[in-house]
Amino acid sequence: MEKKFDREKLMANLFKARFPFLYIATWEEDRVLSLIESIASNQALIKTERKVITWKITTGIEGEANGKGDTKSALKALELIENYQEPAIFVLHDFHIYFGDEGRTPDHQIIRKLRDISLKLKRSPNPKNVVFLSPVLRLPHDLEKDITIVDFDLPTFHEIKQILDDLIEVNKQTGRIAVNLSEEEKEKLVKAALGLTLSEAENAFARAMVEDGQLSIHDVEVILKEKEQIIKKTEILEFVNSHLNMDDIGGLENLKRWLRKRNKSWLESAQKYGLPAPKGVLITGVPGCGKSLISKAISAMWQLPLLRLDIGKIFSGIVGSSEENMRKAVQTAEAIAPSILWIDEIEKGFSGLNSSGDGGTASRIFGHFLTWMQEKEKPVFVIATANNISSLPTELLRKGRFDEIFFVDLPTHRERVEIFKVHLQKRLKDPNVTGDFQINDNNLHQLAGLTEGFVGAEIEQVVINGLFEAFYEERSVTLSDFEKICKQFIPLSVTQAEQIKGIRDWANVRAVAATPREDREEYTESNEAAGIGDIMASRGGRTIDF
Ligand code: ADP
Repeated sequence: MEKKFDREKLMANLFKARFPFLYIATWEEDRVLSLIESIASNQALIKTERKVITWKITTGIEGEANGKGDTKSALKALELIENYQEPAIFVLHDFHIYFGDEGRTPDHQIIRKLRDISLKLKRSPNPKNVVFLSPVLRLPHDLEKDITIVDFDLPTFHEIKQILDDLIEVNKQTGRIAVNLSEEEKEKLVKAALGLTLSEAENAFARAMVEDGQLSIHDVEVILKEKEQIIKKTEILEFVNSHLNMDDIGGLENLKRWLRKRNKSWLESAQKYGLPAPKGVLITGVPGCGKSLISKAISAMWQLPLLRLDIGKIFSGIVGSSEENMRKAVQTAEAIAPSILWIDEIEKGFSGLNSSGDGGTASRIFGHFLTWMQEKEKPVFVIATANNISSLPTELLRKGRFDEIFFVDLPTHRERVEIFKVHLQKRLKDPNVTGDFQINDNNLHQLAGLTEGFVGAEIEQVVINGLFEAFYEERSVTLSDFEKICKQFIPLSVTQAEQIKGIRDWANVRAVAATPREDREEYTESNEAAGIGDIMASRGGRTIDF
């Protein structure tokens, strides 16, 4: 209940402090209205009780002030608000249509009128506030200083539980659905529905009930599926259901250790140690070396849900306004917290902010994101991955944003041994394919020695292409199949040596190596012995072992 109370108090304070215009973007009109009504009639919270008066384009002004002429016109409604003589909160639905939504031209008369009455509302002897309630967030530039955006969080555990209890109660009376749930199982169902709005949660429960005429613990799956669908519809977030775990990743031991030590850090027991919940990591480095892989594997290691945010889509303008998209994404991640929010290729959204020429939207969203990173109280762990770091804004890299910035370099000899092992073990399961070939130290070192400068993705290709050789000749695979491919293969690091050197120089000052000291030192020795070229002679990132 605590959370709801916070929300009430925050809104009440805004009303009390005479904020003239608040903007709440949500589909959950009923929830907002009942919250406003409960605040408006609670003297302890708001001091002066206020009437709640609503306006819609279809009905005009409703409630107490009704009957004062036709107020379906928005301008007329604003005049009425201007002259209203009692303490009141006006809730205006769908005003985004006047603010220049979806290609419409903004209604300048309305915007001007709002600016005119802003000061009057602040100074009126009777406290009056206006709340804009819309499913989308549109803020005309001219009103940015007058309107305060209020985030309306998704329902809490208790609010969703209430819905479920109500549904169960109704069903008990009709007796149509058999409910088979212990209190603990009920909580699991509710948890599965976190991240949905109240009506979405209600629909999901209802669907789970009608599907087989009963409600049981097995319906957790149904609810999760439903939630996945709903979140997918936002087109910016995606639930990543990955079965990858840390053993599927060769090398990067330093990063793995850091992550392992932060497992369960969002629990109360960690707080007892005086530990803050970790904010997140930025993982940069050479493409194809396992950044995405490790992001997915954290979910299994920590047993937390993983949401992937498509930052490119946020700024594409295809699905709603960028600002609103970012808020929604953050809200969803918070609603299902503890959770992991993975921002893949973060540079796509936040690079070159100054030159984007989009009227400052990108900078504003970026600012909002940074503040959220810095101040977030909910345990949402952010993993940001980036290939092209040179254009990332420096603010993002400042201390206090991410807990650590890791650099993933070309794999060292020892890491390549591990990567070969992962991919060979994954594919060589059938004895007819494997034949006499053994995944042993000798073979692994032999292959690792032939693949200096290869990234993980290229090593995977070596394994696949080697298998093709054997498949084509309808025989089991041999070491020389793989050796042949290694020798033919020209890794990208050869052609992109300059770029790699560039990102290493960047990383040397700013990032910690994902590869631990023991792997790096061994690497250098073997490297010298083998007389390998420049690309492997230096490494990026500082050596700090966790
Ligand atoms: P990026 O660093 O560009 O995000 P990915 O994580 O997408 O790279 O790696 C691409 C593919 O290459 C992976 O799906 C995996 O098969 C292989 N790969 C890359 N790095 C590793 C690694 N360290 N261990 C095992 N496989 C790897």
